[in-house]
Amino acid sequence: MCGVFGIFNKSEASNYVYLGLHALQHRGQEAAGIVSTDGERFFSYKGVGLVNEIFNKKGIISSLKGRIAIGHNRYSTFGDESESNIQPLQAHYDLGSIAIAHNGNIVNAIPIKQRLVRQGAIFNSNSDTEVIIHLIARSNRESFYDRLVDALKELKGAFSLIIMRENELYAARDPWGFRPLSIGKLDDALVFASETCSFDLIGAEFIRDVEPGEVVVVNSDGLHSFKPFERKDERKCVFEYIYFSRPDSLLWGRYVYSMRKQMGRILARESPADVDIVIPTPDSGVPAAIGYSQEIGKPFDFGLIRNHYVGRTFIEPAQSIRNFGVRLKLNPARDVLEGKRIVVVDDSLVRGTTSRRIVKMLRSAGAKEVHLRIASPPVVSPCFYGIDTPTRKELIASSHTVEEIRRYTTADSLSYLSLEGLKEIVGGSGFCLACFDGKYPVPFDK
Ligand code: SF4
Repeated sequence: MCGVFGIFNKSEASNYVYLGLHALQHRGQEAAGIVSTDGERFFSYKGVGLVNEIFNKKGIISSLKGRIAIGHNRYSTFGDESESNIQPLQAHYDLGSIAIAHNGNIVNAIPIKQRLVRQGAIFNSNSDTEVIIHLIARSNRESFYDRLVDALKELKGAFSLIIMRENELYAARDPWGFRPLSIGKLDDALVFASETCSFDLIGAEFIRDVEPGEVVVVNSDGLHSFKPFERKDERKCVFEYIYFSRPDSLLWGRYVYSMRKQMGRILARESPADVDIVIPTPDSGVPAAIGYSQEIGKPFDFGLIRNHYVGRTFIEPAQSIRNFGVRLKLNPARDVLEGKRIVVVDDSLVRGTTSRRIVKMLRSAGAKEVHLRIASPPVVSPCFYGIDTPTRKELIASSHTVEEIRRYTTADSLSYLSLEGLKEIVGGSGFCLACFDGKYPVPFDK
């Protein structure tokens, strides 16, 4: 995933970026960084861990001077977890200095990098984002804008980018529009962020989204918009609605919370369960469980209590941590569950290991029946556009039927939201659904 945030023309800009990254923490918990500029020099601080752990020492934020700053929350989809891959990445070249924060995944980064290395380029990181810096630096065009467009035209895949120069900010979204990127306003300052929940925290007003294929420049002359790319069919990531984005974010014109609730409602219409209570897998299953409970007219309750001081299991990279994480994260509320027939609603089912542990946990806490309802279709294909989904082999639905998965999870029944149901909720055809139908909108070299 990754979260990006940038602000132009605000005193103590880095303070706002710090808050913005804090609001976007759910998009990446491995590392974070902020780079600011006072119009001449760049100031930067990066580290491994959560935003408030990295920037907790007195004086760090105030050392990041200037009225322009950008930041990044990292979780690795490309490149390893080493410190050289922590963004924003920075470089100096013939036009000055540059810092870049990227959300997404460039599917042709490897062949581009191989070509650049053959031509003599030396890379500091193994992040796909560094390829963009090299392409900008090596372009023969005069202006930065022309060089940027030259570079971006070479890329295939997902990029929502914020780029900082000494006196201006650029924001760009790939022509398919896979990942979100919004524009906000705070007094005289302009703000860019992966999600609008970060605007709410700093008191900024949402203006609009950066459109697919749009490059926005903000400098002392104001905001300028360009559409330099050949038009493509939009392919916004539907999983942003299902799991990745925060429920309080306004994403592509609709609140994530309402969309998830609707997913629960449609799921209930498609696959009702005769139960006493409806419980969510907290937190991401909560809105869908509320929708499900309202639709079947049975009470919603919290049968699983979440420890909020543990990261989200799905996006932690190591299997060993992930297994351990389920028990670290969730504990059953016995008095809610004892002797009850329960339906537990989750946003998605990826490997099946978490669901299996949850079913076991609920039964051992006294539940009489445990029915699983998944508020998205079976995940059959991995993502190559910026989400660290497991390999196809690890995706249980890629090689097992729903009945086989039910047996594996030991649930009394298991149903998923249908693909038709999901399409009806999101509306239109402008979405990437490759996780569910294997139809990848941007081809890549396997
Ligand atoms: S493959 Fe899935 S997670 Fe990746 S962009 Fe498409 S819908 Fe989103």
